[in-house]
Amino acid sequence: MRRSVADLGNESDQVREVREELSAMIDGPLRYPSSRDEMIEWGYKYTRLTNCKKCGAAIEWWVTPNGKRVAMNAGSVVGHWKTNPGCFDRMGHK
Ligand SMILES: [Zn+2]
Repeated sequence: MRRSVADLGNESDQVREVREELSAMIDGPLRYPSSRDEMIEWGYKYTRLTNCKKCGAAIEWWVTPNGKRVAMNAGSVVGHWKTNPGCFDRMGHK
């Protein structure tokens, strides 16, 4: 059976979907939530608001559906590690 380029494209989409599903089970979702409602819908749990020990920015701690603690910039759905990766050298995962 001859394969067209379009068939191959579909196949790689499916492969990617499966891979995303697998890594979501292992590492958590690859896609980041786009709203706070979505975070809650996905099973994120808000814990507390605090200030980054390094830069002083207000950050919110959330627990991901996989039980991982993540620091988000307060009032947003952007991880603090994304905008200020340097802050995590000393903070570790606390
Ligand atoms: Zn910081």
